[in-house]
Amino acid sequence: MKPLVDAHCHLDLYPDWESLAEECEANRVYTLAVTTTPRAWPKNNEVFASKKYVRAALGLHPQLVGEHWREFDLWERYLSDARYVGEVGVDAGPRFYRSLERQKDVFERILQACAQAGGKILTVHSVRSASIVLDMIEEHLPKDRGAVIMHWFTGTQSEARRAVELGCYFSVNEQMLRSANGAKLVRLVPIDRLLTETDGPFVQANGAPLRPIDVRRLHPALAAAIAVKADELPQLISKNLKALLA
Ligand code: MN
Repeated sequence: MKPLVDAHCHLDLYPDWESLAEECEANRVYTLAVTTTPRAWPKNNEVFASKKYVRAALGLHPQLVGEHWREFDLWERYLSDARYVGEVGVDAGPRFYRSLERQKDVFERILQACAQAGGKILTVHSVRSASIVLDMIEEHLPKDRGAVIMHWFTGTQSEARRAVELGCYFSVNEQMLRSANGAKLVRLVPIDRLLTETDGPFVQANGAPLRPIDVRRLHPALAAAIAVKADELPQLISKNLKALLA
């Protein structure tokens, strides 16, 4: 079996996360383990440092920024140890609207710090805020200063085209392909910008959280959406990951 790619999974939110990392190793699932607060970074980084297939990302989740914005300083302190950054971004949905200005401020500072450091790869949340997020990326993170993966993108088609122009990758999950809009978006993204993700444990199937190996569940639908053979998909996605990391 070819290696798989789960470009966005909250490994540390599973009770058995350390054995889950072993599962990724055994099944050869390249997994980006995102964190929601920088407090989680040291342990994640330490546990995954010895792994071949799992990497930790340094995050400050937009849904937590309202309460945790003071942790930006901690996030910044760890940045030099991190190649991957996430989960970061903006959430303008009704539950988090109150902290929108704070979220924008924190995300701007994250982008600026990444641009200054150079070479970071970010996995970005943009719920109800695709245009805001893309404006900020365009202004603060030039293409040659970092790479962006739009995670579970739910913007409009013109916003998706703009993200493509800005050089963004897209990590697609199974929930996204269940919606007509999601499937449409996937078709207008160039094939060489597509990655796969589970967003576990938030995305579930049959009442259980998806695990990184379950990323293969979306292959048939993704392959159909972009008109390639399902058995060619793992190779295509691995190739995109390699290009992103190069
Ligand atoms: Mn997530």
